This record gives sequence, C-alpha cells and structure tokens, in this order.
Amino acid sequence: MSKSIVSIVKGTDAKKMVEDALNHLGGVDSLIKEGSTVIVKPNGGHVGSPESSVCTSPAVVKAVIETLRKANPKKIILAESSAIGCDTMECLEVSGILKAAEEAGVDDIRDIKSDTDLIRIQIQNPRSALINVKLPRFLVEADHIVNVPIFKTHVSMVFTCALKNIKGVVQDSIHGAMHMTDLAAAMMDLWSVIKADLSIADLIRPMEGFGPHTTGNPVDFGCIVASQDPVALDATVCRMVGLDINDVDYFKAARDRELGVVDENEIEIRGNTIKEVYKPLHLSYLEGFAAWPEYNFYIENACSSCQGLMAFSMVKLKLLGEYDKNKGIDIVLGRKKEIPEGVRFGKDLILVGDCTNFLKKKIKEAGKSCIHVGGCPPGEPLPYWGITDRVDFPNPDLVKDPKKVRQRLEDETELLLKKIKEKKKE
Ligand code: SF4
Repeated sequence: MSKSIVSIVKGTDAKKMVEDALNHLGGVDSLIKEGSTVIVKPNGGHVGSPESSVCTSPAVVKAVIETLRKANPKKIILAESSAIGCDTMECLEVSGILKAAEEAGVDDIRDIKSDTDLIRIQIQNPRSALINVKLPRFLVEADHIVNVPIFKTHVSMVFTCALKNIKGVVQDSIHGAMHMTDLAAAMMDLWSVIKADLSIADLIRPMEGFGPHTTGNPVDFGCIVASQDPVALDATVCRMVGLDINDVDYFKAARDRELGVVDENEIEIRGNTIKEVYKPLHLSYLEGFAAWPEYNFYIENACSSCQGLMAFSMVKLKLLGEYDKNKGIDIVLGRKKEIPEGVRFGKDLILVGDCTNFLKKKIKEAGKSCIHVGGCPPGEPLPYWGITDRVDFPNPDLVKDPKKVRQRLEDETELLLKKIKEKKKE
C-alpha cells in the first residue's frame, strides 16, 4: 500500500518554503491542473492582526497563491466563512490576508457567508446529526480546494490545523448545527462531501497556550507542512509539537471516515525530519485535572473536547478570581451509565456536555436537581458561566440579548488576556 506523503520545510522565506514543500510532493504542476479553478481556503475565521497568529499569516497566503499560479490555473479564488458573529471581510482585512491575496494577484475573493447560489448535498451514512449541508456552487464545482490553515491550540478541539479548517466552508446555520451535535464527527461528515485535495499548513508562528483567539501565544517555529492527506498532515504536526495523537479524539472520527492515515508507518516524511524541527508547544488543554484539587471531577469517558474546554474553564476561574468562590463543587463530564457515587445534588453539581443529558434526566426523575451545561462540546464560555452563574445552558437569556452576551465574553477575554500577560511576567 502506498504511503501518504507529508513534506516539512524549515526556513525563513515563506515563498521558498511553500515552493519547496510542494516540490517534495511532486511539484505544483502535478498537484494543480492547468486551466483549473482553484479555491484557496485560509484560516481567516476571527479578527486578529498578522502578529497575533489568530489567522493564517498573510506571507503564507501570498506565497501559496503565487506558487499555485505557476501551474497556470484559469482562476484562483480566495474564500472564507468566518466564525459565527464575525464578519468575514473584516477578518480578512485585519489579518492582512485580503491585502496579501490582492498583491499576489488573486482573481476573486469570496465571503462564503453571503453567497446565495447554494447547493444542498446529502451526507452519506452521517456519523453526526448533520444529514445534509448547503454549500456555495462555486466551491463544489471548483477543480481544487487548497486548504491553508495555521496551527493553533483550540479550546474545544485541543488543536486546529488542516482537518478543522474545513469548518470554514459553511454558512452560519450549518456552522451552528455542527456545534449542536458531535462536532468532531460533524467535521468529518463535512469532509466526506467537500474535500480539500491539498493542505499547506502555516507553522511559521503557530499558537500555543490558550487558543484559538486572542488569549493564545504565537511561537517562532519556522515551518511549512504540506500534504494531500489532511489526517497525515495533522498527525505529523502533532508529532512535531509534542502532542500525543491518542489524546485527541477527532483522529478517531477521521479514521472512522477513512479520510487519511495517522500511523507513522503509513506516512512518508519528505524534506526536514520531525526530529530536526521538533519543538514542544505549551498545549494548555491537556494538563490534567489534578491541578485543581479543590474541585471534584468525574471525567471518565469524556473526550478531549470537553476535557480541554473544562481545563480552560478552570484556568479562567483561577485568573478571573472565581476559583475560591466555587471550590468544593462536583463537575461531571463524559458518558456515564449511573450518577457517580458521592456527588451532592443541587446547584453544586454541574453536568457538562450533551453526554450528560441522560444523567440530568435521571436526576430530575429522582426528584433532585443539578446545573446542566449542554452542547457537544458546549460553547466556549458556557462551562465557566455554568459554574459562576449556576444556571443551565443553553439559556433563554442568551437568545434574548445576544449583544449583552457578546459584550460579557469580550470583557472577560480582555481581562483574561491581561491576567495571562501579568502571569507570564511573574
Ligand atoms: S459532550 Fe463532550 S464528552 Fe460528550 S461527546 Fe460531546 S464533546 Fe465529547
């Protein structure tokens, strides 16, 4: 069986690195058909300056477009759909991606969110509740999709790189629906109907710490990684930054969909070796729960998404001065057949994630109560708010006044960022 090829190039010149990375895969002419329509999909999902590493670096986007042009495609279109609540064009502008793409001579820049010519595609044998997706015709009919992610730590997925970047090809309604089901499985369901045939990952300054937004920390790493197999690429990147792939559940979902390979024996590395570029990053979401002995955790069978999210919530409690106020509570995550022994019912029992829906029902049937934070995984701020506010989520207040909710999140993020900076100086 032939192996998946992943190229790693360490250097300082983005253009040369991208060219070399593609040469190791056989050269741009062998990857991109002459006269074809090519979509370039960066990570431009949130507002962040080029220095913040929130989005793919503009230098990499420019290098990719210039390199793809050498294959003489008919058209190169840069396309993105930013996160819910974000404006795609604002994200592309603030990140420098818009200017870089224009300088590189891109033919068109499209905001997927505002596209109206959509095609509904049925997902065969879905592994999540996502039965079909609506995608822009121009995306579905393109000859190539070139995925250009940046590596970042990610609160609900542990990390984001090639596989997760595909989530940015859907509009808000589908995006929202993906968060209401098993997100990892939904991402792979999406991959099953819209595949990037080439991924070029930006690891020039990836983000460690508390990603994926402004609370993360860019690190000089100096690499470009490319592959036609997004699973092999993500697995290789994990090995480069010291992240054990067994700690990340969405590789299981990717394997289940047969989207690519994870095993080192099935991957051929070209260019630099993993050993040559290896540099462990601070992956804050997998540090374990022993760090918070004042809280009682019941985490068996919880996947990495909920564990990472909970770990982030604990750090947030500490840094925002809420930790001591809430100590002694019981926090339950993951699929459980029975109510864990020893938990106390009432507002000091917090159930996190849709996996605990069954327990919530059992507790209610027994005439007892608890706090329940739903979602799979729940939205980023919700476990923290469940603990500090002691109310269930989803909560009708969120729908009533989304502006207020957004403001709260922004205020907390700003304060968290300040506290993280202070802590680094200590
Ligand atoms: S609720 Fe949490 S633990 Fe359960 S499947 Fe979803 S993300 Fe995983």
